Amino acid sequence: MFNVLKVRLYPNKEQQVALAKNFGCCRFVWNYYLNKTTTQYQETGKRLSYCDMAKNLTQLKKLDEYSWLQEATAGTLQQSLRNLETAFKNFFDHRARFPKFKSKHNKQSIRYPESCSIKGNGVKLPKLGIVKAKLTKTISCQIKSVTVSKTSTDKYFAAILFETEEFNNAKTGKISGIDLGLTSFVTVFDGEKYYKVDPIKPTRKYAKRLRRRQQSLSRKNLGSNNRKKQVKRVARVHEKITNTRLDFLHKLSRKFVDENQVIVAENLCIKGLARTKLAKSILDAGFGMLLNLLSYKLEREGGKLVEVDRFFPSTKLCNCCKFKNDSLNLSVREWVCPNCQNHHDRDENAAKNIREEGLRILSTNTDGQSVFQACGEGVRLGGASVKKQSSVKQESPVTA
Ligand SMILES: [Zn+2]
Repeated sequence: MFNVLKVRLYPNKEQQVALAKNFGCCRFVWNYYLNKTTTQYQETGKRLSYCDMAKNLTQLKKLDEYSWLQEATAGTLQQSLRNLETAFKNFFDHRARFPKFKSKHNKQSIRYPESCSIKGNGVKLPKLGIVKAKLTKTISCQIKSVTVSKTSTDKYFAAILFETEEFNNAKTGKISGIDLGLTSFVTVFDGEKYYKVDPIKPTRKYAKRLRRRQQSLSRKNLGSNNRKKQVKRVARVHEKITNTRLDFLHKLSRKFVDENQVIVAENLCIKGLARTKLAKSILDAGFGMLLNLLSYKLEREGGKLVEVDRFFPSTKLCNCCKFKNDSLNLSVREWVCPNCQNHHDRDENAAKNIREEGLRILSTNTDGQSVFQACGEGVRLGGASVKKQSSVKQESPVTA
C-alpha cells in the first residue's frame, strides 16, 4: 500500500535557483495549456487530452523563444499536464471548480514522477543532486514520486510517496461512534462510556496578531521592500494557524486510531455548513480534515471509518425508545424524551445513535472479508459504506 512521508528540505543557494526555475516552467506550462484548452473548448467543444498537450509541448520546446523550458526536468512538466488534465476532468465531472491560473506569489509545487531516491541525509532529485533533508524515518523501499513544494514563507518540503508491504490486518480495538460539534469538538461513545474533546480555536487565538500585521501591511508603500517583508510576516501567522490546527488533529486522530478498529461518524457537508454564520468555527474546527486523517490512518492499519448518512437524525432520536424529537434546536444541550422520560445529553445521545447506526451498516454489509469483534458485538465489515470525504480540500496524507 502507498504511504507518504513529508519532510522539510534545505536546498542550497544553487538548488534554490534551479528549483525556482523549475517552479516557473511548470507554472508556465500549466497556465499556457489551461489557456489553450479553454480557448479550444470554446471554439470546438473539445478539450485537449494529456497526449495532445504533451505532443504540443515537445514541439514548443524546440522553438527558440521557449527553449528555456528545457532547463526544467521534463518529467515535472509532463506531470503538470497530467495534473491539468485531472483538474479539467474533475471540473467536468462536477467534483471541482474550473482550474485556475497559477500565480508566482502562492505556494509553489512540482512533482518528480521518477528517478528520485534517498541518499544519506538527503533526497536525490533529477538535475538537482542531493538536497539536504530532515528525514524523520528511513525508507528502504522503492520511491514512487517526490513532490517538492515551497510555502509562501519560503520553507521547502518534500512529500515522498512510497509503497510498503507492511499491512496490519490484525488491528484490534473498540468500535466507537463520534459526534462532531462546536461546543464539544468530538463526543465519543465506545460502547461503554462517553468522553468529550474540547475544540481549539486557532483563528480566534491569532486574530489580534493577524489584524495588527495586516494593518501594518496596508500602511506600507506598494512595491517597497518593507512591504515584501510584511507580506511574509502576515503569511507566517496564517501558517501558524494552519499548523496549530493540523497538529491538534493529527494527535487526536492518532489517539482515536490507537484505541479503535472502527470509528463511526456522520459524513458532513462541510462546504454547505461553512456558508452559514457558523463558518469561522467550522473551518476552525476542521471536521473534514479530521475525517480524512481518521480514514487514511485506520485504513493503513487495517481498521475502518464508517460514515453514516448526514440525513440520519442522530441528534433527534432518543436512544432508549427511538422516539424522534423534532422540537430540538441547536441551542438545546440537554433534553428529556417526551415519550420515555429519559434525560439525554444532546451530544452523548447523538454519539450513541451514530455508533448504533454504524453497527447496523456494518452488519448488513455481508460482502466484507474480516469479522470485527468489539464489546461482544460481532460485525462483518463491508466496503460499501466507506467513502472518502470529497467535500473538503484533499490534503495528501502525511505520516505523523
Ligand atoms: Zn425515549
